[in-house]
Amino acid sequence: MNIQNYINGKFENPISNEWVDNYNPANGEVYGQIPNSSKADVENAYIAAKSEFPSWSQTTLEERSKILVKISELLEANLERFAEAESKDNGKPISLATAVDIPRAASNFRFFGNAITQFSSESHETIGQNAINYTLRQPIGVVGCISPWNLPLYLFTWKIAPAIAAGNCVVAKPSEITPMTAYLLGDICNEAGLPKGVLNIVHGLGSTTGQAIIEHPDIRAISFTGGTETGAHIAKVAAPMFKKLSLELGGKNPNIIFADCDYNDMLETTVRSSFSNQGQICLCGSRIFIEASIYNKFKKDFVEKVKQLRVGHPSEKSTNIGALVSKQHLEKVKNYIEIAKSENSIILCGGNEVSVKGYENGYYLQPTIIEVKTDLCRINQEEVFGPVVTIMPFNTEEDVLKMANQVKYGLSATIWTNDLKRTMRMSKLIEVGIIWINTWMLRDLRTPFGGVKASGIGREGGFEALRFFTEAKNVCIKY
Ligand code: NDP
Repeated sequence: MNIQNYINGKFENPISNEWVDNYNPANGEVYGQIPNSSKADVENAYIAAKSEFPSWSQTTLEERSKILVKISELLEANLERFAEAESKDNGKPISLATAVDIPRAASNFRFFGNAITQFSSESHETIGQNAINYTLRQPIGVVGCISPWNLPLYLFTWKIAPAIAAGNCVVAKPSEITPMTAYLLGDICNEAGLPKGVLNIVHGLGSTTGQAIIEHPDIRAISFTGGTETGAHIAKVAAPMFKKLSLELGGKNPNIIFADCDYNDMLETTVRSSFSNQGQICLCGSRIFIEASIYNKFKKDFVEKVKQLRVGHPSEKSTNIGALVSKQHLEKVKNYIEIAKSENSIILCGGNEVSVKGYENGYYLQPTIIEVKTDLCRINQEEVFGPVVTIMPFNTEEDVLKMANQVKYGLSATIWTNDLKRTMRMSKLIEVGIIWINTWMLRDLRTPFGGVKASGIGREGGFEALRFFTEAKNVCIKY
């Protein structure tokens, strides 16, 4: 099946008529093609967005909200079709796409459709000078949204929904590896009555299509989620043009387990925070630190539980671990397992490819637990982004804090303890943007989302996202 660009409300082939193969990770076969869009396609998308901007930015909040909520309802009505498409394109279990990815994409539109009706400007009375200031929060114009392959529609809509709610028009590019649900979204937008040109979706490679978006002098803001290296490249290209930037990048998140935690809840959640979506979530807790007094018990129980996870075809309901997203990514993750071995780390379980009957060319890997001797080894410092976690014991709160922070990333952290004072102390000192205490991935869309250090700059979510997608302009009136 060939997918097309969605520009000015219509579906179009790329101008060059060049295409890129799209693979099904569950069987390793090509099952469609996507446009290999060029600069000229991005320019057409920009022109459509620019022409619509004067009208969309003046559309009432009530009308914008109504359309966004309608998109959300249509996604919910098409849950099964979208979940199947997402699972096939990405390799994730259908159960996960049905329970998490597509419902969350729908929530993104509903949330920002409602949030925009509550978003307001500030005013400041300058006492003693007979003056009043008020702040206009105006949409930026045409903005670029670029998203990765791990949570395709979930992260694509997490950017698009606040961008259009705030009155911008968008040129967006999903990952070339997982373009399908973004393609299907076009029809839903038309059905919901989104005016043509508000959202334009251009498919293609990061190095050409993505590059054309970030280089475009009149696309004034870029919201990007993806790898740290790509983020650094985007920052370099965008900085001389003074574009507004939001960069949500990689992570190497600590999962810190104290002996006083609720053990069973911790164990169950730790299996999830390690291996959900084949470990391909930027928030996965890939470095697990366990207080020494329960280390051996945890090691035994964790290995036992993880061995029970079923690696299988994504469309089967009983599958816990589906396929990795691509052959190239599978090779990268396998290479990290070899690096761990060469560093004298111990593979406690997993470590090998899995041959799933009938789908022998799919990209399946066993969930893998690696015991490391030091937190400074490469497998513990570099982002693997696959079904691989490390474990090691710690003795004191000070020791584990040091190890948690001794990494270039700073996205999220999880702490398991029932000591309230400890949670307060540690939450202040861990260098990340998001902390979960006694839980993982519990999300409230109003909260600020993002990382520090090499995990990015800026925050998404709630009013933070609406602030990013608007420019504040102060007006001072003397009376
Ligand atoms: P990449 O950085 O490779 O790609 C992300 C997106 O950027 C893709 O759409 C890609 O296109 C595009 N891109 C690549 N090069 C350029 C360029 N020169 N200009 C503009 N766009 C470009 O990341 P992955 O897709 O491999 O995603 C995995 C990464 O994303 C991991 O590091 C993960 O931690 C991070 N991530 C971060 C999250 C967060 O919220 N902090 C959440 C989820 C993931 P194409 O795919 O076509 O090359």
